[in-house]
Amino acid sequence: MVRVRFAPSPTGHLHIGGARTALFNYLFARHNNGKFILRIEDTDRTRSTEEYIEAIIEGMKWLKLEWDEGPLRQTDRFDVYRNYVNKLISEGKAYYCYCTPEELEQRRKDALAQGKPQKYDGRCRNKERVQEVEGSGVQAAVRFKMPQEGQVVVDDLIRGKVVFENNQLDDLIIMRSDGTPTYNFTVVVDDVDMDITHVIRGDDHLNNTPKQIHIYKALGHEIPLFAHLPMILGSDKTRLSKRHGATSVMAYKEMGYLPDALINYLVRLGWSYGDQEVFTREELIKYFSFENVGKSSAIFNPEKLLWLNSQYIIKSNPEELAQMVLPFLENAGIIHKGQKIDRQWLSRAIKTLQERAKTLLELANSLRYYIAEDVQYDEKAKAKFLNEKSRGLLIELKDALNALSDFSIYELEKLFKSIVEKHVIKLGNLAQPVRVAITGGTESPGIFEVLEIVGKEKTIKRLEKAIKAIESEN
Ligand code: GLU
Repeated sequence: MVRVRFAPSPTGHLHIGGARTALFNYLFARHNNGKFILRIEDTDRTRSTEEYIEAIIEGMKWLKLEWDEGPLRQTDRFDVYRNYVNKLISEGKAYYCYCTPEELEQRRKDALAQGKPQKYDGRCRNKERVQEVEGSGVQAAVRFKMPQEGQVVVDDLIRGKVVFENNQLDDLIIMRSDGTPTYNFTVVVDDVDMDITHVIRGDDHLNNTPKQIHIYKALGHEIPLFAHLPMILGSDKTRLSKRHGATSVMAYKEMGYLPDALINYLVRLGWSYGDQEVFTREELIKYFSFENVGKSSAIFNPEKLLWLNSQYIIKSNPEELAQMVLPFLENAGIIHKGQKIDRQWLSRAIKTLQERAKTLLELANSLRYYIAEDVQYDEKAKAKFLNEKSRGLLIELKDALNALSDFSIYELEKLFKSIVEKHVIKLGNLAQPVRVAITGGTESPGIFEVLEIVGKEKTIKRLEKAIKAIESEN
């Protein structure tokens, strides 16, 4: 059975790159009816925080990347690592190292000056050396005896065969002198214990893989398959960072992106399926495979993400959007916390706007004139349309609307037509001033729809306000 894991280090929020790794693991697991495990790699206690663990989990939940097991935490597993270290020592596959950080630093400098490779010289592999320094009070670290001859081949599902020379590999420290285990070791122990079949991660880990393969072998465990995902770069081809815009997943939530749109965008960072751009989650699960993951780095393109988001907003049902837009309405001060708002009415208003809003934030702002009691005029629009020329028309319309009992699109349209026919003017000559009076600006959905949703009472109030505004200018 396929078993994969997402293993973030909680040293920051869930970012775009991490989320894409999580997504590919999730899709691969679901495609193969396998298991997806969430493992928190928090052994670096100086940089890991509870807050980041929660933030990562929150991000995963928002993206609906449901995991089957976990979250497991490496800090709960120190005994397990200790046992494996002891086992390797007793089998002669690992050894205590008494070299102090100062000595190591000095040797590194010397090697650099002599143009020699800066790797550990294997000094403490030597029994005599150990006898010399044992009992000197130096706290020993534990190093893994890395094979120094031959090669190791990483047979990667995306990159193909990548060959590493063993003599380039260091006797790496698997347990620091303070007793804490290190990344390359814990990751293998966990993948062994959790029966991971496929290790899917960013290709910044490719150089760690040969070392990890030797550790698998030393533990007598079968080596999983590897898939190293190409890097994500910014538009200037450098590694994606804050300079290229928001990189944290939750920042996209705050900006009004839909989780499904972000997922759809993330999957296309490296994976393709013909020239299809928009996928449902079911389609992604059905189509996902590593054959369609490219080798070259992917470029993060915020405009494309925005476009996808607008597509998702268009195809969402208005009731769902009504639910999602509420926090944005609150944040923008358009409604106050806990304010009751008629959901059905809100859904109708959203339906008129969802073709235009690219984010939930934009949607919330464009709902302002529907919801607010009052309207703010755009100065230019006001100067152009709320003037002596339109005053008479607005008064006439207001009186007619007052008398209208059925405030429906159909009746509103009929009424507008009768007024423009009577004055032999174009519909726009009436509709634009009305639009400014009701929405404050010159762009909005169809005027009859807008009026119907704003409703009779507010429409008349706003027309009165516009008429007064014109009169007070004179
Ligand atoms: N904890 C590692 C990281 O966040 C991932 C390790 C792995 O996937 O093997 O980069």
